[in-house]
Amino acid sequence: MSEYRTQEQKRKFYDSGKWRRLRTVAMERCNNECQRCRRNGLVTIDTNEFSEKAKRKKIQLVVHHIKELEDHPELALDIDNLEVLCVSCHNEIHGRVFERKENRWASDEMW
Ligand SMILES: [Zn+2]
Ligand SMILES: [Zn+2]
Repeated sequence: MSEYRTQEQKRKFYDSGKWRRLRTVAMERCNNECQRCRRNGLVTIDTNEFSEKAKRKKIQLVVHHIKELEDHPELALDIDNLEVLCVSCHNEIHGRVFERKENRWASDEMW
């Protein structure tokens, strides 16, 4: 079984065609909407709107592994282990307060 412990292994995984396809399916299944915001009665949808100020899309959605990739490599491509989250929710879930500086998780699961 593959392991995803190093950045290199993860990069390969997030770069793979299999992941990209599954990621799209997961996004569509959730209507491109943050599932955690939704549980809180909010609607956070990926609108593809671009923020000139931040030089990125206004709302970024991440496909998050509910059981971490590192700990559960066997669930890496299990759609039931995936959840669509906006970046702020994602940061909170990973126990990080949102900071200005680049967040590792933001890019990790977005590939
Ligand atoms: Zn959210
Ligand atoms: Zn995550």
